[in-house]
Amino acid sequence: MTFTVTVLPSGRTFSVDRDEPILIAAIRQGVGLPYGCKDGACGTCKSRLIEGRVIHGTHQHKALSVEEEEAGFTLTCRAAAQTDVVIEARTVAGAGEFPVRKMPTRVTTITRPASDVAVIMMQLPANDPLRYRAGQYVEFILRDGSRRSYSMANAPHTQTEKPSIELHIRHMPGGKFTDQVFETLKERDILRMEGPFGSFFLREDSTKPMVLLASGTGFAPIKAIIEEMQFKAIDRPAVLYWGCRSKADLYLHDWALQAAQQMPNLSYIPVLSEPRAEDAWTGRTGFVHQAVMDDLPDLSAHQVYACGAPIMVESAQRDFIEQCGLPKEEFLADSFTSEADKHGP
Ligand SMILES: Cc1cc2nc3c(=O)[nH]c(=O)nc-3n(C[C@H](O)[C@H](O)[C@H](O)COP(=O)(O)OP(=O)(O)OC[C@H]3O[C@@H](n4cnc5c(N)ncnc54)[C@H](O)[C@@H]3O)c2cc1C
Repeated sequence: MTFTVTVLPSGRTFSVDRDEPILIAAIRQGVGLPYGCKDGACGTCKSRLIEGRVIHGTHQHKALSVEEEEAGFTLTCRAAAQTDVVIEARTVAGAGEFPVRKMPTRVTTITRPASDVAVIMMQLPANDPLRYRAGQYVEFILRDGSRRSYSMANAPHTQTEKPSIELHIRHMPGGKFTDQVFETLKERDILRMEGPFGSFFLREDSTKPMVLLASGTGFAPIKAIIEEMQFKAIDRPAVLYWGCRSKADLYLHDWALQAAQQMPNLSYIPVLSEPRAEDAWTGRTGFVHQAVMDDLPDLSAHQVYACGAPIMVESAQRDFIEQCGLPKEEFLADSFTSEADKHGP
């Protein structure tokens, strides 16, 4: 049995199978809705249900609270339509533009620029290259069918005759996938992958100055966005804030310094939360999103791209909007949620 989903204000319609989450049906049919984790943990896909009935699947209460549910909101990644439905959601131009595909990929190189970060190059099928937007992510499909998401760190134009994607993977001890990456994964191993996914990517229709905000490996999609800007000679002013614990965690610090040197419109501000004595750090310290607020107390004319630890993304979204006047729709983010966030309180 199928139902019709109508998205307002665009008026776009698509079909959804009974018990299929609305977002999954939208992705399948190339309809660009906003989303992040697809797993009920980040809240990016929160939309207003205007008409019809859905079953709200399991989700985190911080992504959709009981009060929000009662006020008519739903998470499209978890909402299974039981009738025709009408939802109010921004449509994201370009989000469904490239087909989502499953493919085998081969590990070509693994490097360890920091003790808990692996940079992995994955070779893709040459005859049918992956098309994606700078900022999007892919999912590895593990043997038991579970999935883990990683953002491309290289811009799409780098797909040459030997197409490959660069991924930055942080070790989460006890984690199902990253324990394997840090203990047994080796060059030439084959992994199954699906993508591209995500509505976090460079908005080329805006001319607003940009804040690029990363914590840890949240730097990966931001690097792809910077590469894309450089390649396309996009000269919007942009300032990169990269937050890590100590100097050693800024695993591509030299890359960022060089990008800022090559691009007159880009500046780079690294921020350490726990600098070590041996770092002899004279730069910025504290929470990275606080550094943005100290420098730019008025964000009303900016566009923000934030990526990394869920706590950083949540704090930035709340404080930038409430305290710095950032328009809600100008906060674009991917929150790196994991199993810990999906099973938390
Ligand atoms: C859109 C998106 C993009 C992402 N991009 C990146 C990226 O580019 N780079 C990157 O490093 N990460 C990224 N992530 C995070 C990544 O997908 C994984 O969540 C992360 O790598 C951990 O995977 P894992 O299998 O090793 O750990 P998991 O198995 O998810 O476990 C994570 C932690 O939770 C604990 N845990 C497991 N199960 C439970 C439970 N039931 N209750 C409580 N705790 C539990 C584990 O011990 C471990 O410490 C992204 C996430 C999203 C949603």
